[in-house]
Order: sequence, then C-alpha cells, then structure tokens
Amino acid sequence: MIPAFFDSVLQLIVKTSTDLPPDVRAAMAHALSSEPDGTRSSQALKIIATNIDLAANGEGAICQDTGMPTFEIKTPVGVNQIWMKKQVREAVAEATRRGKLRPNSVDSITGANSGDNLGPGTPILHFEQWEQDDEVEVKLILKGGGCENTNAQYSLPAELPHLGRADRSLEGVRKCILHAVWHAQGKGCAPGAVGVCIGGDRTSGYTEAKQQLFRTLDDVNPDGRLAELEAEVMRTVNTLGVGTMGFGGSTSLIGCKVGVLNRLPASFFVSVAYDCWAFRRLGVVLDAKSGEIKRWIYRDPSTPVIPMFDQAGYQRTGREVTLRTPLDEATVRSLKVGDVVLVSGPMFTGRDAVHHHLMSHEPPVDLRGAALYHCGPVVKKDGDRWTVTAAGPTTSIREEPYQGEIIKRYGVRLVIGKGGMGGKTLAALKEHGAVYLNAVGGAAQFYANKVDGVDGVSLLEFGTPEAMWHLRVTEFPAIVTMDAHGNSLHKDVEQESGERLQALATH
Ligand code: SF4
Repeated sequence: MIPAFFDSVLQLIVKTSTDLPPDVRAAMAHALSSEPDGTRSSQALKIIATNIDLAANGEGAICQDTGMPTFEIKTPVGVNQIWMKKQVREAVAEATRRGKLRPNSVDSITGANSGDNLGPGTPILHFEQWEQDDEVEVKLILKGGGCENTNAQYSLPAELPHLGRADRSLEGVRKCILHAVWHAQGKGCAPGAVGVCIGGDRTSGYTEAKQQLFRTLDDVNPDGRLAELEAEVMRTVNTLGVGTMGFGGSTSLIGCKVGVLNRLPASFFVSVAYDCWAFRRLGVVLDAKSGEIKRWIYRDPSTPVIPMFDQAGYQRTGREVTLRTPLDEATVRSLKVGDVVLVSGPMFTGRDAVHHHLMSHEPPVDLRGAALYHCGPVVKKDGDRWTVTAAGPTTSIREEPYQGEIIKRYGVRLVIGKGGMGGKTLAALKEHGAVYLNAVGGAAQFYANKVDGVDGVSLLEFGTPEAMWHLRVTEFPAIVTMDAHGNSLHKDVEQESGERLQALATH
C-alpha cells in the first residue's frame, strides 16, 4: 500500500492528456515559425497552437481521441505489482469519469464501449524492476487511433513505391521510414514523429518502435550509426511537402527515433510507430513509500510554460466563405478546393458505427442538406444537459466504403473530417453535389469552442464516441479539400510528394 500512488497516477494522466511536453511544444513552435504566413499549413498550425494553449489553460483534453493509455512502470524489487496495477486501472477509470479521457475501450466483436477505458488489453501496463529502492517511475504515452492506423511494418528486402528496392541495410531502413511518412500523408495528423525499430520479430519490433517514442525529440541517439540515420532522415524528410494535416507545406515530421533489436537470420523487419502532433507523453518519479511525486520527467513544473500562440488566437484572412446549414446544391457546387469555410448551424456527428448503421437503416434525423461530421466527441452530462468538452475530427478514410452511398441516399452536402477520402467518395461528391471539408485533426478544444450546444443525441447505444450528436456550431472553420468538380487536394499532395519521394531514393 503506497498512500499517494493513486493520486499521483491520476495527476499524471490528467497532465498527459491536457498539456504537451516542452520538447513537443518546441518542435511545433518551430514548425509554426517555418511555415509561410497565409498558407493552408500555416492556418492549420495556428489552429493547433491555439488548441494546445486552450487545452493546457483549461485542463481539457488536447485531442478528443485520448488514445490508448500505455504505462511503463519501474519498481523496486518486492513492490506489489498486482496492487499497483489495480490502482492504475482505477486512476484511468477516474480520469475517464472526469472527462479527461474519452471512453475508448471497445469490445472488438460487439463494438460495445466499456465506458471507463477498462477492458481486456486496456490500459496497457508494462512493469520492470530496477535497483533504485526508494523510487518508482511511471511513464505514460497516450497515442490515438488515427496515428496508430498509420503505423507500418516492412519485411526487407522489399520494393517500395517511388523508392525502389529497400535492402537489408541502414539505407533500406531509411527508405522504409521515408515511405511510412509519405504514406501516412495527413491521416495521422501530420506533422508527426516516428519511433522505429530495426529487427526483432513482428511483435517485439512494434513494441520497441513505440518505446522509442519515450525519447525526447531533441535527444541524440547514443549509437552513432543510428544517430546518423535519424539526422539524415530529419535533414531530408521535410522536403516531401506533405505538410500539416497533409495540406502541403514545409513540416511533415518533427522527430525520428530509431532503436535496434537482434533478429532471426531469416527476418529483417522495420517497424514504424507514427505519433501525431498531439504527442502526449509524460512521466513521474514517485517516492516508493509515500507515492508522492518527487519530480516530473520531460517537464519542469518550475519553468513557466510559454504559450504557443501569443496573439489573439486564430486569425481570419477575410477570404473565408460563410456557410449556414442546411445547404442547397448550388451553394455547395460553388465551392472549390482551397476555400476556407466557416460553418454555422446544425451539424451531426457520425463515425464508424453510424456509417455502418445507415447502410441498412433510415437516419434518425433528416440529413438533407446536412453537415455530417466525422467526430467522436468527449461529452459530459450535467443533469439533463450534455456538454461537448473535446470535438476534433476523426480519420475519414475509414468511412470510404459507406460515404458515397450515404451522400446519395440521404442528401448530405458537407462531409467534415480529416485526412481526406478516396475515389468513391470523390465521385459521389461530384454526382450528387457535396463537398469534403478537412478540419484540423486533434484540435479538440478549438472545435469544442465552436459548439454552442447539443440539441440531442441519437444512437447513444453505440457509446458516446460513436453516437450521432446533434450539435449547433458557430463559425466552425475548415478547408474544402475535395469539391463537387472532381478535385481533391489529397490526391494532388500525394502525387506531388510521391515525386519528391522519388528524388530521395538515393542520397
Ligand atoms: S491528433 Fe489526430 S491522430 Fe492524434 S490522436 Fe488526435 S485525431 Fe488521432
């Protein structure tokens, strides 16, 4: 029994979910200062910077996808890890009750949400013993689903698009990392950081790749060969032009950390764990007897946090197009790729479960002219009233099998999400008169502030992230990235960055 252990772990969870560590803030500030003013990436970075400040000031979740909690715990010999595990799980459930973590643990077969972030495999806890008798170390990373879905594992030798053959060499590894960043485009909320493992087996490779994300972005790899590889990747990767959210631009990656494990002679895996800009990672060292926090890892509470954005928040350019939902076809057809829009009026959320449901059921609301937002918000109920506390977009490509049909059947005019969609949706936008708007992934606090209220909820049986929330929004900003004329910014950026990737095939 360590009296303050529970409270200390709870503090760690809340801080990790709401405040980015200084090394990530510095990298994002650098990205912001390197992007020319007025570009799409610069506008997105300003929204991100505003969001980081809002989250830290209000202790709100930085991103509505509060991710898979992964704890790395080091204990003195003899500590009761069974008790500790129970305490960590209870702290996770309490942070969820307080709205600092979204309920994110879902039964993989039934889709039922446990509601408290507890379930088989959730949270992830790794224990290790160390020889420090008087201290316990707890590190935590919260890595969301959008970036987790962009992880990649290569088995070398392999032929890679635009890069040619990747051999079993550090040069082959370099190609895999570049390919992974290019392939992720904006789907993992670029600019991201990659943890990489050379070798191991398929399981240990991914575990070690994620472990590399516990390093600070500005450290130097103690292995000179890997330090050189990391530096080489960082020297060239930002010429790809993927940019923030895949909008094109000068920062696609903010960090590359590479580890190595022995492998079997027949295998040569390169595992890449992609983390988004909302790179939430913190740690604490606790007194082993009292459980009180002795010091923080990655942050120094005595150093004041410098706001990311010292101006009056996100600035308008005056060229924004104002849209009020529900929309008619002519208005939507007048929009084109690159337009920045400000949406006001009713907006309905819908993500994986809702899209699947709508293929065989009538919608619970009239979707004619509507805005359908790919979003699984964090919501709180006070009495009879629902409040949205975090509401950024989720990755849209998962809805590609359904979206075209839903637009056609129910007359949706605005599809809002992040990362773009594919050819079937693009064709449906053109045929039926709709557009895809890319909101800034992870900007959960920024977008929650655009929600004036919740008018209702449908399909709550799917769990709060998957339900259809009836939101009322004012001046919700997003960029038209797929229009009703067959144009897609995502297709263009992928093609142009693919050509640049080709130029990096040799170095
Ligand atoms: S910032 Fe994007 S990728 Fe990261 S957790 Fe949030 S939605 Fe997912």
